[in-house]
Amino acid sequence: MKKGFVLSMMSMIAIGGISCSSRSGQTDGTDDFKWIVDKFDDIKVLRYQVPGFEALPLQQKKLIYYLNEAALCGRDILYDQNFKYNLPIRRTLEAIYMNYNGGDQENAQWKAFEKYLKKVWFANGIHHHYSTDKFTPEFDRDFFEMLVACVPDEELPTDFGTREELLAVIEPILFDPDLYPVRVSQSADSDMLKHSAMNYYEGVSQKEAEQFYAKMVDPTDRTPISYGLNSKLVKENGRIYEKVWKVDGMYSPAIEKIIYWLDLAADVAEEPQKSTIEKLISYYRSGDLKEFDEFNILWVQDTVSNVDFVNGFTENYGDPLGRKASWEALVNFKNEEATRRTEIISAQAQWFEDHSPVQPEYKKKEVKGVSAKVITAAILGGDCYPATPIGINLPNADWIRKEHGSKSVTIQNITEAYSESSKGNGFLEEFMLRPEDRERITKYGTLGDNLHTDLHECLGHGSGQLAPGTNGDELKQYGSALEETRADLFALYYLADPKLVELGIVPNADVAKAEYASYIMNGMMTQFARIELGKNVEQAHMRNRKLIAEWCYEQGRADNVIEKVVENGKTYIVVNDFDKLRALFGKMLREIQRIKSEGDFEAGKELVEKYAVKIDPVLHAEVLERYGKLGIQPYSGFVNPKYSPVMEGGEIVDVKIEYPEDYVEQMLEYSRNYSFLPSKNG
Ligand code: ZN
Repeated sequence: MKKGFVLSMMSMIAIGGISCSSRSGQTDGTDDFKWIVDKFDDIKVLRYQVPGFEALPLQQKKLIYYLNEAALCGRDILYDQNFKYNLPIRRTLEAIYMNYNGGDQENAQWKAFEKYLKKVWFANGIHHHYSTDKFTPEFDRDFFEMLVACVPDEELPTDFGTREELLAVIEPILFDPDLYPVRVSQSADSDMLKHSAMNYYEGVSQKEAEQFYAKMVDPTDRTPISYGLNSKLVKENGRIYEKVWKVDGMYSPAIEKIIYWLDLAADVAEEPQKSTIEKLISYYRSGDLKEFDEFNILWVQDTVSNVDFVNGFTENYGDPLGRKASWEALVNFKNEEATRRTEIISAQAQWFEDHSPVQPEYKKKEVKGVSAKVITAAILGGDCYPATPIGINLPNADWIRKEHGSKSVTIQNITEAYSESSKGNGFLEEFMLRPEDRERITKYGTLGDNLHTDLHECLGHGSGQLAPGTNGDELKQYGSALEETRADLFALYYLADPKLVELGIVPNADVAKAEYASYIMNGMMTQFARIELGKNVEQAHMRNRKLIAEWCYEQGRADNVIEKVVENGKTYIVVNDFDKLRALFGKMLREIQRIKSEGDFEAGKELVEKYAVKIDPVLHAEVLERYGKLGIQPYSGFVNPKYSPVMEGGEIVDVKIEYPEDYVEQMLEYSRNYSFLPSKNG
């Protein structure tokens, strides 16, 4: 599962909410680093730093280098999975781009073409990466035909067909809005496969696909494989069967390249990682999903390797039936300093539990903290590139999670890049009234935010216990919002505890003040920027933030703890009394824990419905208007660093890292060097 795909959890950072930040644990010199390298349409392209890479031992640098190459080799797979004509379209657009000799680079039509190509690269295809709607070209068909006419035959994707055959297919796709309008359709009342442009099924109806897999699944199997995960389901000559993604199967040319680099990685890896990589290679060769499970078990059990990776068919968001997985990759290594922070917190788990404001009978007698790993991403690939999650929790198979556990990671250099890049975007100046709050947030915002996440993940969810007879699912549809509320309150309450200063995790009380001020403002106001006017708050994390902020506002009203200030026609949310606010967090935590422990559905429902769902339409419109004026792009993604081996006598003696600034150049380079699939696949 991916955490916070830009518009969900941490998106307050991505789109400017908690701007900020101190550069906790970063290398020097970040001040001059250019974080934003491109902007087009609703997209902002950023860079990220890889602090600590240079100091790694040579063996780990080589391992990362080989795994990185493996991570880049699957790019074409994702294009083809997203839509079967994405590869010939991308190649045609790139050929045009390379051959354009119009001279007039400022020509509006040409600018529109360039923007379209940038969007296609960003989405790994012609449908938006988030909404999955097809892009509408802002250049016209005549202009396109003029451009194509300048491209020599041999530079077009000739493996697709003649020039005429190619254009007969792709031109209508580009310009007819009714053709393949959406990549993933979720409308329950029609055949979702027929209405989705994704390339996971061909010639089969939704019903046929469901029946195909229903027959395969054995409901008594307690360790089921992930049926259908690594294949395309097709109907040919009346027969329905899977085209498996493996060596000698579909996508073989790209998979062979991935294996080539994984082999080199296995050679330099140490145990237990070496066997883990070898198992992955074996699975790529056989396509056998039993081997995929074996690989996942080895992978999740390896908690000692400093370098770690994701490489393969992993997440199923792109399949309307939630079965087929897109190809993705991520290479990373441990962020020692930040991980130490989570270890210190985890080690004190019992102290936090014992001192919490919760009723004694609902506290755990013996609590075990989870030490979430904080990592530094070295490369993003496949479905993690250019748009990327800020956290990952894998593997996905339920029985493996239950029996062998899962790995939960936070990618700190990515969150760092989000907050660094949103500095100076005008957000704080627009929405945060008092200069002292702005200063504190600029200084301690990132630390406060990271610490909030640590406390939430390492302690919050694991704290508390149920009353005898309560089984935990009584809160039904309100359960997830209330559970996030509970974990957030635990984090907020302890953020201001002197214990954190004592443990050396925070320098002073200003860290909590920074987090409190932005949390309340976000919950009561700025998070509404992501919701269409007239709609309610639906997402669990957004509901939880609104619930906490609005409840505390009302409860603290007599003491003016939180104040709505209107100045020059603009609304501001201001925290006047941080100590009293902390006491309110404690009081609320006690009540939310009681609701969970006793399974008090009615009380939970009442809180959520009263405080978390409905937005004041006047305030909502105001937020959208002020936000719109700032012109902040709602979606972000990244260019990758570039790694090059330093050779001496045929041996790698070092690996150099550079941070390219040119988005277009990186995309063209990847298409040149990592394009291994034909224009027509299976
Ligand atoms: Zn949570």
